[in-house]
Amino acid sequence: MNPSDIRILITGGARGIGAATARLLAGEGAHVLVTDVLDDEGGALADSLGPKVRYTRLDVTDPGAWAAAVALAQEAFGGLNALFNNAGILAFGSVTDTTIEDFRRVQDINVTGVFLGMQACAPAMRAAGGGAIVNNSSTAGLQGYAGIAAYVASKWAVRGLTKAAALDLARDGIRVVSLHPGPIRTPMTENIPDETAAGQPLPRFGEPDEVAAMVRFLLCEATYSTGTEFVIDGGATVGRLEPVTAD
Ligand code: NAD
Repeated sequence: MNPSDIRILITGGARGIGAATARLLAGEGAHVLVTDVLDDEGGALADSLGPKVRYTRLDVTDPGAWAAAVALAQEAFGGLNALFNNAGILAFGSVTDTTIEDFRRVQDINVTGVFLGMQACAPAMRAAGGGAIVNNSSTAGLQGYAGIAAYVASKWAVRGLTKAAALDLARDGIRVVSLHPGPIRTPMTENIPDETAAGQPLPRFGEPDEVAAMVRFLLCEATYSTGTEFVIDGGATVGRLEPVTAD
């Protein structure tokens, strides 16, 4: 897909990785529907990116809001051929100290939101002759992490749902892939110290622009990929730099 042919809905697009992706794609001529629950930030971003970019409120847990957003994209852009299911939240807590409310809220936004997004957008993408969906998982969808049990569960679910959708939507010409960022400097990670990334092969947090570049690649270039994982983590899941030593 040529970037200027993209007609995309981005969830959680008001800031962080979603906003960086909106900026990159808009800069290459794409039509972008920025959606979020942060109306001031989302509206200001869309206004700053020109007439091909719109903002609308979309709580990803609300099926009615999904239907309205897809209808807006079709009316404003003449169709929809791409979706970045990016909205997500992080909640701290181990398996034993995560509340049921926190657990359910994380699954509702991170998993049900992705499910509803694909369900709402697939018919429009089918009508457009196909397209591509990028579901934002995490390295927490590839391995375990202590202290964020609900988040880990949700991101593995996004990875699994991506594989199911890739099979279900293949005959419609819709590719579906999962994205697995490691630590990225965004508002979500503002209280997580730099040292968290110190032992990685690339010992720093990534930038939202670096993730946006991979989303662009997945939408525009990865024409022989569907159902699979794309990792952008500074090597975090490869291992730690410290050598194994013996006493
Ligand atoms: P962020 O907090 O800056 O952005 C997340 C956005 O999602 C926010 O704008 C927020 O308002 C929105 N959002 C939250 N609940 C919503 C809802 N119910 N409906 C619609 N929008 C909602 O964080 P980010 O780092 O840019 O995160 C984007 C995605 O990347 C998330 O899915 C996150 O889990 C994933 N991710 C982030 C990192 C990281 O280190 N930052 C690493 C791996 C994966």
